[in-house]
Amino acid sequence: MENEEFSFDTELLYKGDKVKGCDIVPEAAPIFLTSAFNIFGDLDDVNSTYESKGYTYIRTRNPNRHMLADKITYLENGEDSAIFSSGMGAIQTVLFTFLKSGDHIIAGDTLYGESIELIEIMSEYGIEYTFVDFSDADAVKKAVKPNTKVIYGETASNPCVALADIEALAKIAHENGALLIVDNTFVTAYAVKCLDLGADIVINSLTKFINGHSDALLGSATGSKELIDKVLTRQSIFGTTGGTFNTWLVQRSMQTLGLRMRQQMKNADKLARALEKNPHVLKVNYPTVENYPQKELAKRLFKDGMCGAMLSFEMPSDRAKINDFMKRLKICHYAPTLGGVRTTMSHPATSSHRDLPDDMKASLGITEGLLRISVGIEDADDLIADFTQALKAFD
Ligand SMILES: *Cc1c(COP(=O)(O)O)cnc(C)c1O
Repeated sequence: MENEEFSFDTELLYKGDKVKGCDIVPEAAPIFLTSAFNIFGDLDDVNSTYESKGYTYIRTRNPNRHMLADKITYLENGEDSAIFSSGMGAIQTVLFTFLKSGDHIIAGDTLYGESIELIEIMSEYGIEYTFVDFSDADAVKKAVKPNTKVIYGETASNPCVALADIEALAKIAHENGALLIVDNTFVTAYAVKCLDLGADIVINSLTKFINGHSDALLGSATGSKELIDKVLTRQSIFGTTGGTFNTWLVQRSMQTLGLRMRQQMKNADKLARALEKNPHVLKVNYPTVENYPQKELAKRLFKDGMCGAMLSFEMPSDRAKINDFMKRLKICHYAPTLGGVRTTMSHPATSSHRDLPDDMKASLGITEGLLRISVGIEDADDLIADFTQALKAFD
């Protein structure tokens, strides 16, 4: 497979399957459960190993992280990647690499809850912040200050699926000497390649769609060699490097990313359209439904006009009936994660967004009747039938 470019699904099977210095190649990726690597020989060998950034101690470098980084770098069309202990480990390390006391960050106001908390904590270290609607490029532009160094947000907002115009945001960032850093966890590079659209760094919680099997916690950051080198130096000091076993699990899962995402997006599209037609559903947030407000943007930037496999929909805010609906569902179940092969739901008003003041919830569209769905790989007709019978709770 050397030097030849095949199509995405094929490449993803082979990228990163070689270990430097290893002359046997097992069919499945080997796992290096070791904290250090022996350097046989004398001080000259020790010296050259450090100089050439060879394998020494596990926190700095490990073949499993390199193998996974190669796959992620291919997926994102970047130059290099760093693999972290979690998505939050990636976000924290990247932001603390490019921001220091006196700098300003503009961040999306619908970010993942812990990312908002992280930015608030960063203000205790002298880093100023402004939260704005990330789907409104003009609002982002207006928030720029002379000390703005980073513009940070998510490609699709949680839970109402408002899309960010990455191209426009990259332009604003670069005109003002700032970096555009994007968390693409909800959408994945299968549906949009943020670096190709001008983002400087793309971050993923690999815990979600990229691993897809709900069994590992891990994160990544991808960008140019120059930027990722800086991130890797900090990562080693902060100790946020990804653990070996989780890294190995994610690299195994990634071989089927194309298959999974194709099915998950196809299912999300079919389920969204079926929900849209259901008389008990007030609103569906997904780009392929009739009244989705950012259809043009979705078509321009996202694969087949679809932003991955996350959607949300609104039922009447009647708790007893929603409870009944949830009990009637046979396939889709409640789980506080997303991106797995099984369809799961979450209820933002009582979980991820429970601490927001009521007026904030209202302005973000988070009603008692809003459910967020992470669509899995089940048969689409089974899923639609399951939701249809459960919605009879509202008859
Ligand atoms: C889950 C998630 C994170 C955090 O990732 P962890 O792997 O749980 O640390 C960050 N951003 C988004 C959008 C997420 O969904």
